[in-house]
Amino acid sequence: MVSIYESPITSEEVKSKGKELGADLVGIADGSVMNENPPYPEDPRRPCDISDYDADRVIVLAKRLNLGSSRIKDWDQRHKYYNDELAITALEETALELVLWLEDKGYPALIIPPTHVDPWRYDGNPEKHLSPLLSLEHAAVEAGLGTLGLNLQLLTPEFGPRIMLSALLTSAPVDADKKNEVALCKGPSCGRCLSACPGDVITDWDRDWQRCDEYRNPYGFNKLTQFLGEVIDQTSPKEQKSMIRSEDSFNLWQSILRGAGAVNGCRRCQDVCPVGEDYESMLKDALDEIPEDTPQKQSRLNKIMDNPLSKNYDTQSRWIGSLPEE
Ligand code: SF4
Ligand code: SF4
Repeated sequence: MVSIYESPITSEEVKSKGKELGADLVGIADGSVMNENPPYPEDPRRPCDISDYDADRVIVLAKRLNLGSSRIKDWDQRHKYYNDELAITALEETALELVLWLEDKGYPALIIPPTHVDPWRYDGNPEKHLSPLLSLEHAAVEAGLGTLGLNLQLLTPEFGPRIMLSALLTSAPVDADKKNEVALCKGPSCGRCLSACPGDVITDWDRDWQRCDEYRNPYGFNKLTQFLGEVIDQTSPKEQKSMIRSEDSFNLWQSILRGAGAVNGCRRCQDVCPVGEDYESMLKDALDEIPEDTPQKQSRLNKIMDNPLSKNYDTQSRWIGSLPEE
């Protein structure tokens, strides 16, 4: 039952409850700091845009991904999609339980899932990248959980980028964490994310998000609309039936069934990143070699090394942190 009185509460209690409920990492960001520092000022997405009353704090939860699936090299293995989907489901339950716990203490709260986008922004082009309501990667940096890497993935000291994120908004009066000022990313001299990317979509401190989506959500809404369009375009019913019974159709059905491959997909850049306490002992033997690397990718990395503090770095430096000397 929701209390009409606000019980005393501390940030330590919130974090310890989040972990007891299944999160591996919990950090708390100051909503007003996030309101003042939107990651993309031309299209600000701030806690205050979501809730007028309950967004003083953004509690960021992270669940680690299981490493057996990271050790599978092919980016498009369904084992990976299913394992990640289970992590999302578990984290959703953790987030909901934490919301209810906060409300039992008298503080209304709501969940900001990582994959939810604003339907009002959809303009009829399924290929276009749609950003989530709040960038949870940037929120996680503000909550002290880590810093952003060369492709703007979140890196944590414990698990590198091999985590799933969720967040809660609340105005419970708990202390916010401070962000880290020094980059965890080893910079372009590492560049393993860029070398391994199957779509070659990573640039300097950014990525082509639209092209990345083709890999991150290989059986998402874009693929579904493409597939249905191709079925309609067939001139004979026989061809249409054959497409409806095809492997593509089967994969779409499987993805819609669980979300596996629709709301998640490629994470090869996360798997190969050497940041994280888990990498040396649990992943390096399987992932050290990068078959996707090419001389062209190395040449691009060399160019980034010549000018690591580029315009892209400047616009995201608050969340990337200061770079180690190359
Ligand atoms: S998710 Fe895949 S396609 Fe996107 S940047 Fe990472 S490796 Fe590249
Ligand atoms: S793989 Fe290397 S360059 Fe890429 S994010 Fe990780 S540390 Fe940075």
